[in-house]
Amino acid sequence: AARVARGSQEAVLITMAEGALFPGRKVIVDNVYDSFADAVGNTPLIKLTKASAETGCTIYGKMEFLNPGGSVKDRAALYLIEDAERRGLLKPGGIIVEGTAGNTGIGLALIARCKGYRTIIVIPNTQSEEKKQMLRIAGAELVEVPAVPYRNPNNYARLAGRLAEQMGAFWANQFDNPVNRLAHIETTGPEIWQQTGGKLDAFSCAIGTGGTLSGCASYLRSQKPDITIGLTDPAGAALVHYYNHGELKGEGSSISEGIGQGRVTKAIGEDFKPDVALTISDSEGMEWALQLLEEEGLCVGISSGINVAGAVHLARQLGPGHTLVTILCDLGTRYSAKLFNPVFLSSKKLPSPTWLESTEVSPE
Ligand code: PMP
Repeated sequence: AARVARGSQEAVLITMAEGALFPGRKVIVDNVYDSFADAVGNTPLIKLTKASAETGCTIYGKMEFLNPGGSVKDRAALYLIEDAERRGLLKPGGIIVEGTAGNTGIGLALIARCKGYRTIIVIPNTQSEEKKQMLRIAGAELVEVPAVPYRNPNNYARLAGRLAEQMGAFWANQFDNPVNRLAHIETTGPEIWQQTGGKLDAFSCAIGTGGTLSGCASYLRSQKPDITIGLTDPAGAALVHYYNHGELKGEGSSISEGIGQGRVTKAIGEDFKPDVALTISDSEGMEWALQLLEEEGLCVGISSGINVAGAVHLARQLGPGHTLVTILCDLGTRYSAKLFNPVFLSSKKLPSPTWLESTEVSPE
């Protein structure tokens, strides 16, 4: 293995000797960073045991919840800020304004702390209290607005644009700023390619802004033109029908947050098209999120559950023996009051964590 400079240290491999509690266990030490920015990305892949066993494939989840701000969106946040600095759109003491379902805002606000910017976040009031609380803790100023579609001028993303203009602030504009996609072309995609040693048959995930799917697809296709790229979206999103039939049309609804897009954003790009596009129900996504927790100790949000369910569908289409990667976007604790609340889940007719139905702990 190569020794590479990273932060202020080189990566070092230590193998536990005979006589250790776990002989042969490998410890890779490469985690001394000079800043928050250095700590973004380079997340591990984890083999999803049950999803792999059920399909005869090897399905990996990219552990994006291990980013320092807790989600895949730290990557876009860092690129959006550093690109704006380079272009002179963001100057010392400047203001960042963004419309976000929360995770991008959390990344922006934390990076803004490191760099001395002020952050104003426009967020639909339907998003989880846990994300809003984290935004406030990070020091963001919140503008909570009713959730209305993009065609309405008061949509959170459009409102953020107007607010930024009025204030002379920088609008990160994750939905239509191609720098969002670039973050995944330059970091997530190459990491996945390296981590799988190029032995990768498919990559799939849902779309929020589309930066993750379109950016990873762009890099991975440049390395392996015949790789299968899958869009696995929640109910209500319009892009599955668009890529399958040429018309933006969504049916149903989803409790998921941060995914489910109604238009072709510039972060996706007109040049992008998935090979397969599938809709995944909330109950299937929730089932996988609960199974990951119960059987593999992974406490992820429902967008990750939908991604894993989607990868399982794609693996079945491809047949046994293939290697697939999907994204574990953030932690389930960002949605505790919904995802781990049996009353809420049963009101939505969704599978519930059985171990939470009784909170009494018996002493025996
Ligand atoms: N999952 C969650 C929880 C998110 O917050 C987001 C970002 N909106 C995504 C998935 C989708 O990522 P992207 O914006 O890159 O499509």
